[in-house]
Amino acid sequence: MIEQLIGRTHRDGQEADEVSVDVLLGCAEHYEAFSRALDGARAAADTLGHDQKLLLADVTMPDVSRRVGPLWDPERKECECDICAQEKEEKENL
Ligand SMILES: [Zn+2]
Repeated sequence: MIEQLIGRTHRDGQEADEVSVDVLLGCAEHYEAFSRALDGARAAADTLGHDQKLLLADVTMPDVSRRVGPLWDPERKECECDICAQEKEEKENL
């Protein structure tokens, strides 16, 4: 999914040397998913030899260690933010 997001601007026909992509990480689950995406991109590059757009990127990650509130609570069982709720609903309707 992150590759598709980057691919919206980083693709054939793009005239800029450099593009910028902002990714909203609105809860702990999304933050962890971004780390898994980086691991997955490295694994795909190693095993398949595919170029991974994510690995070309300079990643600027904010410090989330002091985030507070229910969306960043590690004791929480399941995220109830709007995006996670929508993703859950889409999975259930497959
Ligand atoms: Zn969430």
